[in-house]
Amino acid sequence: MAESSDFAPRGDWIDGRFALPEHAAGEIELYDPGDTRVRLAAFPFAADSAARAVAAARRAWPAWRDSSPDARAALLRRFGDALRADAERLAHVIATEVGKPVWEARTEVQAMIAKIDITLAQGLELVAERAFELGPGQVGRWRSNARGVLAVLGPFNFPGHLAHGHVVPALATGNCVVLKPSEKTPATGQLYAELAQRAGFPSGVVNVVQGDGGVGASLAALPELDGVLFTGSWPVGRRILEATLDQPWKLVALEMGGKNGVLVCADADLDAAAAAIAFGACVTTGQRCSATSRVFAAREIADALCEKLAQLFRGIAIGHSHDEGVFMGPLISRVARERHARVLALAKAEGAQALVAGGPCDGPRPGHYVRPSLHRLRAHDRASLYQSEEHFLPDAFVLAVDSTDEGLALLDATDFGLVASVFTRDRAVYERAARTTRLGALNWNAATVGASSKLPFGGVKRSGNDRPAAVSSTLYCTFPQANLEHEEAPPAAGWPGFPRPA
Ligand code: NAD
Repeated sequence: MAESSDFAPRGDWIDGRFALPEHAAGEIELYDPGDTRVRLAAFPFAADSAARAVAAARRAWPAWRDSSPDARAALLRRFGDALRADAERLAHVIATEVGKPVWEARTEVQAMIAKIDITLAQGLELVAERAFELGPGQVGRWRSNARGVLAVLGPFNFPGHLAHGHVVPALATGNCVVLKPSEKTPATGQLYAELAQRAGFPSGVVNVVQGDGGVGASLAALPELDGVLFTGSWPVGRRILEATLDQPWKLVALEMGGKNGVLVCADADLDAAAAAIAFGACVTTGQRCSATSRVFAAREIADALCEKLAQLFRGIAIGHSHDEGVFMGPLISRVARERHARVLALAKAEGAQALVAGGPCDGPRPGHYVRPSLHRLRAHDRASLYQSEEHFLPDAFVLAVDSTDEGLALLDATDFGLVASVFTRDRAVYERAARTTRLGALNWNAATVGASSKLPFGGVKRSGNDRPAAVSSTLYCTFPQANLEHEEAPPAAGWPGFPRPA
C-alpha cells in the first residue's frame, strides 16, 4: 500500500538532498482522477531547480564517468533491490495518481525491476568496446563514451517505467541524470527519488526536479546539458526540437505518440484478433502511445469482427484504480474527459457510425470516467482529424478493406510511425508487412500494446526521431569514438614530396 507520506511533498532531490523550494514558482495540485473529492497533495516547484540540478549533475559527472562499470552496475542492482522491496508501495502510488488499476501498475513496477538486468546484460552488450586489427601493427578500437549530463522528461501514463527506461541506461553508461517527472505524477517522481537515494548513488548522479511544462522547457534548453531524453506528445517533442536547434552538441531522443493500426485478414483467428484490439484500445483507458485506434478488416469478415468488438467494448469493467475486478480506470483529467466528448462529436460530424457510443459516464465515485467508444467508417480520409490525430482515449474505428495490399498501405497511411499489428495465418503477409511499413514495431497475431524491454522501442515520422529506446537506449546515451592505435609509433610512410626526418 502507499504510505500517507508518499503524498507529502519533499521538494526537489538535488545533490543528494530533498529540499522544498524557498521561493515557489507554482504548485501542482494533485487530485485522485477516480475520485475528485480527494485532494492528494499540492507539490510546489521552483523556477531555478533545473539549473541547480544540472549544475549538481555536472559536478558529479567526472567521478561517475570514471567509476568502473562494475561499480555502476552494483549500484543499479541496489536500486533494483530498493524497487523490489517497495514494489507494492510504488504500484499503489502509480495507480492512485494515474488512475490505472493496481494490477496494471504492478506490471509497470515489474518492468522497472526487469529493466535493470536487461540493461546491464543486453543493453551494455550493444555498446561494448570493440577492437580489431586494421593493418600490420595497427589496431582499430570502437568505444562508446558517456555523453555527460542527460535530462529525462517523463509522461504521465507510465510515470515509473518510461522515466526509468531512460535513467537506467544513462547511468549504466556513465552519464548523470536530471529527471523531471510529469506534472500529473509528482508523487511517483518523489518516491522514485527516495528509492534512488536508498540505493546509495553518489550525490548529484541522479537528481529529480518537480515542475510543469515550463520547468521542462527551461531544463531542456539549458546549454550545460548534453542530451534530452523525452517521452511525451508530438507537439511537445516538436517544441523541444525547436528550442535546441542552435545546440548541435545536444542529443535529443524523442519517444512520441502513435496512431496505431491493426490489419485483420480474412484467414485470421477473429476471436483472438478482437480480444487483442479491444485490449489494445482500452487498456490504460486508451492512454498508451501504442494504443490501437485504427482497425482495417478484410471486407468478408468486417461485420463479424465489428460484432465481436462491440460486445467486448461494452463489457469492459470500469471503476476506481483500487477497486477489484476493474479493467479500465478513469482518464487522467477533466480536460481529457472533455476531449473524449469532443472526439465523439468530431467522429459524428465526419460521418463515422457509432457502434458503441462510449464517452463520459458516471463512475463508482465522482471522477474522470468514460466508456470506450467504437466507430465504423465508410472510407479512409487522410484529411480527417478524427482518423489522423492521436486522441489518447479508449476509442477505435473499423474500416473494411478489399485487399491485403490496401490494408497494408493504410497501416502506413498516417503521420505517425510507432506500431501496427497484422492478424493472419499467412506468414508471407506478415513478412511483407514488416518489410514494407515505416513503423518502429510490427507485431504478428499480437496486440499493438505490450512491447518487450529486450527489443528496441521507438518510432519514425511523428512518433520518434529514429532513436529507439528500450534495450537500444544505451546507443543514444553514448557517442562512438574511433581510435587508431599503435603500440610503437610507425615510421613516416614516405609520401611523394614529403621530407624525410633528419
Ligand atoms: P506531454 O508531451 O504533455 O508531456 C511530457 C513531458 O514533457 C511532461 O513531463 C511535461 O511536463 C513536459 N513538457 C511539457 N512542455 C514541455 C516543453 N515545452 N519542453 C520540455 N518539456 C515539456 O505528454 P503526456 O500527456 O504526459 O503523455 C502523453 C503523450 O506521451 C502521448 O502523446 C503519448 O503517445 C506519448 N507517449 C509516448 C511514448 C513512447 O514511448 N513513444 C510512451 C508513453 C507516452
